[in-house]
Amino acid sequence: MSYATREDVERKLKSGWEPEYFNAPGHVDEKDLIQTPYKEKLNPNIKIVVAGGGGFIGGAMVRYLKDKGFQNIVAADIKPVYDWYQTTEGVANLCLDLRDYKNCMDLVQGAVEVYNFAADMGGMGFIETHRVDCLINSSKINDNMVEASWRAGATRYFFSSSACAYNTTLQQKHDVPGLKESDAYPADAERGYGWEKLIAEQKCQEMFIEKGMETHIARFHNVYGPYGTWDGGREKAPAALARKVIAVKEGDEDFILIWGDGKQRRSFMYIDDCTEGIFRLMHNLNTTATPLNIGSEEMISVNELIDIIEDIVGIKVERRYDISKPKGVVGRNSDNTMIRKYLDWEPRTSFAEGMKPTCEWIKEQYRNRKTGKRTVS
Ligand code: NAD
Repeated sequence: MSYATREDVERKLKSGWEPEYFNAPGHVDEKDLIQTPYKEKLNPNIKIVVAGGGGFIGGAMVRYLKDKGFQNIVAADIKPVYDWYQTTEGVANLCLDLRDYKNCMDLVQGAVEVYNFAADMGGMGFIETHRVDCLINSSKINDNMVEASWRAGATRYFFSSSACAYNTTLQQKHDVPGLKESDAYPADAERGYGWEKLIAEQKCQEMFIEKGMETHIARFHNVYGPYGTWDGGREKAPAALARKVIAVKEGDEDFILIWGDGKQRRSFMYIDDCTEGIFRLMHNLNTTATPLNIGSEEMISVNELIDIIEDIVGIKVERRYDISKPKGVVGRNSDNTMIRKYLDWEPRTSFAEGMKPTCEWIKEQYRNRKTGKRTVS
């Protein structure tokens, strides 16, 4: 197993290497520097690149960084900008295919921080039927982005890995213990998508150990919230089930169809917790090049998830089950021992709380679509 260890970090630091926190154009007064959760302070003018900025987590991260005071953010996505889930004022939004190395090189020139969220991905229905896309498209993006960032001299690089990188044989019961970071090995990841994440993690680890670029790796566990995929085949369970319950409430359907038997259990993390966790992880040297869970420990079944959505939407629905549909592993939860220890933090938003704004946003999208207005999905 080749995790970068604390010793690797210490060796690196002792050799005289240090992150270029102030590596940015223009003078800034000490009082105007942006404080991170650790001892670092960042120049608000550093160039920050968010790849996959037109997507759910990338779009939310751009907003988070802008709200923190960063002034020079460049977001890129393969989707045309009018199809992005959200755009933030004062941010440069580029439509680029990051499978093309030259596009990546152009994008990251002068960047101090690079956050990579770009991937060909979706919920269980998508990743079980598009293994080649998940493997090939995402690995091209990840190869290009990490190499271009290093060549451009970026100080730190963030990679979005996934709980799908974990050994699937540990997730075959409803009541499984939370997955610890070490549970990815010996490896038996989710076919396609999970294996691609695992190998991309290793590229980031070696990029630090051999080449010295500070890399930070999060294994996200099911993220949900407003401004994410809610229809079209790539959506995940919370958004898909919210949409289905809303369709019954709006009188357009008589029942909801659930994939699997409804007993499969997962934890779900609200988007605001996700962006906070990313920022904390990105600025913590203790966990450099070490994959860390960023997820909630509140594990619930799909049936319980529907109970919560029904309460929010205000309707009891007829539930029908289709066990022939992809349902993923039987049980999966996050073990947050490491993030509590290293980040002094863990996600706090309960599912019942986070689903309120999520259902509200999906209802608005649903009604907009029904009345012929523009939506994103
Ligand atoms: P998303 O699909 O909303 O965002 C990914 C974005 O990448 C999309 O906007 C897509 O257009 C863009 N993209 C795809 N191919 C591209 C290309 N060739 N060039 C440029 N952009 C391209 O997904 P998300 O939920 O925001 O996920 C972000 C990252 O987090 C992904 O790497 C994903 O695998 C990871 N992740 C997400 C979750 C979750 O629950 N959402 C869980 C685990 C891991």
